[in-house]
Amino acid sequence: EGGGDMAAGGAGDREGRCGPAAGGLALLGLVPGAPSCPHGPALLFVKTSQGKEEGRRFYACSACRDRKDCNFFQWEDEKVSKTRLAAREEYNRSHQPFFTHRQNAERYKNFVLLPLSKRRFCQECQQLLLPAEWEKHSDHQFLCDISTAQLKSPSRILYPLENKKTNAQYLFADRSCEFLLDLIIDLGFRRVLSVGTPRLHEIIQSKASQEEDFRVRSLLLDIDFRYSQFYAEDEFCHYNMFNHYFFGGEAARETCRKFLYQDNGERVIMVTDPPFGGLVEALASSFKKLMAMWKETEEGEEGGIQEMPTFWIFPYFFESRILEFFPSFSMMDYQVDYDNHALYKHGKTGRRQSPVRIFTNLTPSTIVLPVEEGYRFCTICQRYVTSGNKHCEICNSCTSKDGRQWKHCVLCKKCVKPSWFHCNNCNCCALQNHTCEKTDAGCFVCGKAGHKRSTCPSLSHA
Ligand code: SAH
Ligand code: ZN
Ligand code: ZN
Ligand code: ZN
Ligand code: ZN
Repeated sequence: EGGGDMAAGGAGDREGRCGPAAGGLALLGLVPGAPSCPHGPALLFVKTSQGKEEGRRFYACSACRDRKDCNFFQWEDEKVSKTRLAAREEYNRSHQPFFTHRQNAERYKNFVLLPLSKRRFCQECQQLLLPAEWEKHSDHQFLCDISTAQLKSPSRILYPLENKKTNAQYLFADRSCEFLLDLIIDLGFRRVLSVGTPRLHEIIQSKASQEEDFRVRSLLLDIDFRYSQFYAEDEFCHYNMFNHYFFGGEAARETCRKFLYQDNGERVIMVTDPPFGGLVEALASSFKKLMAMWKETEEGEEGGIQEMPTFWIFPYFFESRILEFFPSFSMMDYQVDYDNHALYKHGKTGRRQSPVRIFTNLTPSTIVLPVEEGYRFCTICQRYVTSGNKHCEICNSCTSKDGRQWKHCVLCKKCVKPSWFHCNNCNCCALQNHTCEKTDAGCFVCGKAGHKRSTCPSLSHA
């Protein structure tokens, strides 16, 4: 099945299965009084087995799923001594970036005053250097002659972070980035809250500084602090979208609030492209908090019952998860392409298409998709769909999720992937070579629900 590397995110295994996910970790979320790691308040988790919570609850880092990146761990009921707490606070302090955002903004001002020949970027430290610092980095690789144009495209200077589990950065291909911006402008938005979308932010900032009549503004919220070297404090906030944590404290929060305040009827949209690691619940709860912030600023205005307009860019197989938290959202067929991920490149063959879509609370018919790329408008569904997505007469909807034409199964009473077949054992459609074991359909031995045949209690009695 497609998806390839996407499966590494834990989401791929949701495909081709009828039953609930097997054992794993369940997220309980952000709870008041949670202890903090360098990435802000930790999240509460619990071990699960066959969908049931069991075992002790514990706190772990919200941002890093790889223990190598942040090894914060604490049992929920663990007593932490005063000395350990103090040591932890010290650790958290010492793990903050060397320069503050303010210092970085000051450094940037000095950097742009330098002649081209003195503008260097250290590739090892991922840092703009001032001449007095060259010495310290003398055995590092530099990028030299950093132009103003380069400074306006930091995502092309910084190397994309590649840690699969924690922070894989997949940057938009120009085609997709331009499409998003044009769409945003055509929809009449003038402010973009860019949450984890540095490349969208940078084309907006870059156009704003170059084109007289370009009126769009953007604020970038991202956990990648390297960006603070290129943006002022009202253009970038160091932010963790898994726990809604502003590293810059109340001042940064206020920057965000101010940005969301719509003066002269300038409309705001939130655009976010989070890592696909799976913590949909945590993301949704942060986005709700950002939406609430937007709402506060709306007070007193007429018709203030709305939700902040949002584009949440995420793989299609998370659709039901996203809709669980945002019933007002719908998934658009547009395939979002990335630069630095081979699997996501737009293919002609139908394979290797991007699984990434736009989820939005805007009216689907207003999201116009490019006809020259094969999208068409379905008048019945009142939305643009991809060319392979045929309208099913029985479902009365364009049912394909992945761009391939899906087929209707009369037994399942819905459309399914072209590669699936109806399995009478499982009583649903699945891949032909699937294993007929479904916990919620009952055990093969005794027929009772809740366990598989390998753990059937009636076997141990025998
Ligand atoms: N396609 C986007 C980039 C998406 S990659 C673009 O081209 O603009 C995911 C982004 O989310 C990265 O910028 C990464 O730094 C950011 N990110 C990852 N974890 C985060 C977290 N916990 N909080 C905030 N941002 C995070
Ligand atoms: Zn952490
Ligand atoms: Zn249709
Ligand atoms: Zn159908
Ligand atoms: Zn079926």
